[in-house]
Amino acid sequence: MSTEKKALYIIFGATGDLASRKLYPALYRLYTKGYLKDHFAVIGTARREWSDEYYQNVVKDAIESIKESDQDAEEFSSHFRYQSHNVKDSEHYHTLKELADSLDSEYAIDGNRIFYLSMSPTFFGTITTHLRDQELVTQNGFNRVIIEKPFGTDLESSKELNDEINDSFDEDQLYRIDHYLGKEMVQDILALRFSNRIIQESWNPETLSSIQITLTEDLGVEERGEYYDKSGALRDMVQNHVLQIVSLLTMDEPDSFSTDNVRKEKLALLESLKQPDVKEEFVRGQYQASKDGACKAYRDEEKVDPESMTETFVAGKIVIDSDKWRNVPIYIRTGKRMKEKTSRIDVLWKKTEKQLFDESDSLLTIHISPEEGFEIQLNDKAIGPGMHMHPVTLSSMRSEETIKESPEAYEKLLLDVLDGDETHFAHWGEVAASWKFVDHIRNAWNEDTESIPFYPAHSMGPQESDDLLLKDGQKWIYNPKS
Ligand code: NAD
Repeated sequence: MSTEKKALYIIFGATGDLASRKLYPALYRLYTKGYLKDHFAVIGTARREWSDEYYQNVVKDAIESIKESDQDAEEFSSHFRYQSHNVKDSEHYHTLKELADSLDSEYAIDGNRIFYLSMSPTFFGTITTHLRDQELVTQNGFNRVIIEKPFGTDLESSKELNDEINDSFDEDQLYRIDHYLGKEMVQDILALRFSNRIIQESWNPETLSSIQITLTEDLGVEERGEYYDKSGALRDMVQNHVLQIVSLLTMDEPDSFSTDNVRKEKLALLESLKQPDVKEEFVRGQYQASKDGACKAYRDEEKVDPESMTETFVAGKIVIDSDKWRNVPIYIRTGKRMKEKTSRIDVLWKKTEKQLFDESDSLLTIHISPEEGFEIQLNDKAIGPGMHMHPVTLSSMRSEETIKESPEAYEKLLLDVLDGDETHFAHWGEVAASWKFVDHIRNAWNEDTESIPFYPAHSMGPQESDDLLLKDGQKWIYNPKS
């Protein structure tokens, strides 16, 4: 039985892409499941001049494909109000406060407020300062702030941003969204590692050969050229999603599954990442046009500098500077316009010491998306005479129907915010440690402005990415070319 929660949402950036594609459907699902019912309201704000009615129609459009009935969509959207608002203008916060207070009493919300900053981070400080100074923060309920990525562009800017936000809100009121942390199979990493003795015992440097993380997209930059050209794959994917996954795969077992204990171990891990030898251990790349001309080269994309050196691909070797992990390389790879869209983790075990048989490597694959589930490849005796091994796969893959019915990342994360559960959000310490690691690579690349390796559209990246593993006598497990 779901318990109804009380909350007033104030969404900054309510006319944006993220709000329509992710937030309104996620809120609707929480509504259909009874978490949000009579005691919730949403104020959408952005620069455009919209009426409440127009806004409610936008919300209805956003849930068109998932609505249970017209009446249900109507009832849900009636909780939404719109206020045109320039976040830099102090005057507007007075009207926002009046509307918030009146909705609070209309829906008996008891002062619980969730401020969703679905806008460019350049506005975060201005908004949070105004929320405090113009008294939109209540005294009688909880006040929580949800922040979207990117959280700064390097350690220095993220620290400035954090200090600015901390002037008005404490760390335990902040929910930094990394939507990968809301994905089922990313949440399953700790469950698989720490609820199965068989995995837990063999998850150590004596037995593991490598860990490989692959997060690829088949699409290019689409309409996000302007943002992406300043960001690149390193900042857009590695600083947050990739390093969060690394921390979950290699952190020590926490004393308990509490937010504080999980964060403590993740932070310790991220702070122990060795600064890489960038030339030797990291590779960047940029996509070229496809042979059939159907996809443009990155440099020809809209709002991208025709001489851009921005990387649309990163591969690297991450080493953890601890006795425990030093000898287990973690290979990471992420990019756009690659062979196919996939997010997966491959964990490879070393062969047995004596190798009595003609064994293959043992392998655990965690499929994050679009498939969800995990598979373990083991050696089994081939039936018949002799002692020949063949690999067999034990598989726990979720059906399409199960995936469709399971809650989407944003829905789960928004429910966590209602519950005040910060376990699946990025803590400031983790963000800072990740920027420190990424800045070191960025700085090295910024110095080398001569060339960037290119890769053909719909490939698995430049040759340099394969060479990176070959140097260590390894190869990418996931290789859809073969
Ligand atoms: P968007 O450009 O579609 O929307 C931005 C919103 O901000 C609009 O509603 C716009 O009206 C509003 N806005 C801009 N300047 C304003 C001002 N001065 N005063 C008031 N409102 C103003 O952006 P988006 O794609 O919805 O993304 C929002 C945030 O989420 C960004 O920080 C983005 O990096 C992040 N994000 C987006 C996605 C995605 O899939 N779209 C994914 C991850 C993170």
